[in-house]
Amino acid sequence: LNRVYQPLVTFSNYLRIFQQNLIDIEAMVDILQEEVEVRDRPGAPDINIHSGRIIVDDVTFSYTPEKQVLHNISFVCDPGTTTALVGPSGCGKSTLTRLLLRQYDPCSGSVSIDGEKLEDVTQRSLRKQIAVVPQDIGLFNQNIKYNIKYGVDGADDDSMREAATRAQIHARIAEFPDQYDSKVGERGLKLSGGEKQRVVIARALLKDSPILILDEATSSLDTLTERSLQRVVNQSAGHKTLVTIAHRLSTSIHADQIIVMKEGRIAEKGKHEDLLAEGGLYAALWKNQAKADVKPNCAHT
Ligand code: ATP
Repeated sequence: LNRVYQPLVTFSNYLRIFQQNLIDIEAMVDILQEEVEVRDRPGAPDINIHSGRIIVDDVTFSYTPEKQVLHNISFVCDPGTTTALVGPSGCGKSTLTRLLLRQYDPCSGSVSIDGEKLEDVTQRSLRKQIAVVPQDIGLFNQNIKYNIKYGVDGADDDSMREAATRAQIHARIAEFPDQYDSKVGERGLKLSGGEKQRVVIARALLKDSPILILDEATSSLDTLTERSLQRVVNQSAGHKTLVTIAHRLSTSIHADQIIVMKEGRIAEKGKHEDLLAEGGLYAALWKNQAKADVKPNCAHT
């Protein structure tokens, strides 16, 4: 019966997404992953994240048997600190954050939060308690209120406005003709990349979870917008455990620890100044990025 029932559940989930005019790929991927990649053990308890201490212990991971993507990764993220994951494209940064959300289980080793191994708890409870700001922001073709409150059970309007204020998007929303009732997306107001990201940051802050994962945008935001968003997130993070995938090293300068990855391994770990002084991979990446940042704009040459 389950073999017949499961595809029907999956199909009805897709249908629900389309009915909601969903253009949020992340949510779609979430549901896909949830149905296919990991299954909760029968009777698995919900996780209860209180302080948000993450321990990644000797984790290895492969998507396919031919290629190991993560090799013996170990680190700790303490509450109230920022950990920046950096490294060349394909080194495994996103894969690591997928394991933090238990979109996949490690092949060996473990990821635990507040002492609970993620593979022992329900995936749904974990997702509910971790806030994520993804790289490619898609908003629903609905009003701003819907977009900020999405996935946050029972949020009231005052808390929504407070989260929007902390995410520095409230003043902009107040200028819209219908304020929080203004529709966004293809047939509504067009928001800039930075504004969309602020809406999603407001959603993450409204969730008030002890852990925030931020996958920085790569190309859609200019450096100034990116830095100001980073400030917004840092100021509002407070006691949260913040994990960022820093595509621009300039945003990782103030991180409490920078984890530099290369081909699925941790190549270096430390603070910005120490890593620069070491003169290794991070220092080389920093030098390269500095060169790229001063390249002349072709349109003016
Ligand atoms: P980027 O900075 O470009 O986003 P990244 O450091 O986040 O890269 P990952 O996306 O984690 O890197 O990818 C690590 C490796 O795993 C890459 O070799 C990639 O091709 C591979 N990979 C990623 N997702 C999958 C998948 N779903 N199935 C198989 N291989 C994958």
